[in-house]
Amino acid sequence: MYVVALVNDEKCVGCKMCIQACPEPNTIRFISGKKKAFVMERRCKGCALCEVECPKKAIFLKQAEAVSS
Ligand code: SF4
Ligand code: SF4
Repeated sequence: MYVVALVNDEKCVGCKMCIQACPEPNTIRFISGKKKAFVMERRCKGCALCEVECPKKAIFLKQAEAVSS
């Protein structure tokens, strides 16, 4: 069992604080068209730094789906 970050689009204001906080390269992407952050789950290490930094509490950790090989 492990956790990954997930963005709630309704709360995200596109401030990119989470992207700056994330230590894993290219894990949180910015969707320019929507102006929202998006987490590449396979890269996320579940460190929760993004969750701590987000001023809107729009990004949070959730239990990941079981990964099929
Ligand atoms: S820090 Fe929060 S509000 Fe800002 S872009 Fe990331 S998820 Fe969205
Ligand atoms: S939990 Fe850590 S690795 Fe995953 S997106 Fe947030 S800051 Fe990046």
